[in-house]
Amino acid sequence: MEIQSVIEKLKVRGFEPFYFESRDEAIDKIIEIVGKDKTIGFGGSMTVNELDLMDILENEGNKIYSHSKVSPEERDHVYQLAQSANFYISSTNALTEQGEFVNIDGTGNRVTTFTFGVKNVIFVLGTNKIVPNVTKAIDRIRNYASPKNCQRLHKNTPCAVTGRCENCNSDDCICNTTVISHHPTSKQDHVYVIIINEELGY
Ligand code: SF4
Repeated sequence: MEIQSVIEKLKVRGFEPFYFESRDEAIDKIIEIVGKDKTIGFGGSMTVNELDLMDILENEGNKIYSHSKVSPEERDHVYQLAQSANFYISSTNALTEQGEFVNIDGTGNRVTTFTFGVKNVIFVLGTNKIVPNVTKAIDRIRNYASPKNCQRLHKNTPCAVTGRCENCNSDDCICNTTVISHHPTSKQDHVYVIIINEELGY
């Protein structure tokens, strides 16, 4: 995989990509993009957690909306606040070498927010999330990322036991809706893409 080729394909599609060798450089760029006194929604993301982005951006003087920081009763309200924030920061389940983002959600808050809710999106990902094409992306999500997330979240799904997708119809299924983002949508001002040459999240 040639990272420069991925960057060029993202630019042609209208995304705004940046590539960094280290997480510290990437975090500095995100701080620069967001600035201060902004509202920022977050999806559930191990990458965001590993980079400590919520605390870093809050300490820069921004207001954070994350369902992971509130009680289950408050989550719906926080989802709505995140949908009207100045920025939304999320990883992606996969990025293809052709510059397409592939994401599968259980609740749908993440894919709806980064496609329609907010005007400025920042996708942040490690190079481990880059795959050759959409088929490989869905395979990666179903047979690697989702089983690991089901195990982490203690979901009652077959993949939490076997580590592979069993195409479940479980009430606990986290693969309820699949979104492929080919370009920024017509409602979006900026979709920044921060790629870090590290293994981050899953
Ligand atoms: S078994 Fe269900 S929750 Fe697990 S990866 Fe497959 S569809 Fe998703």
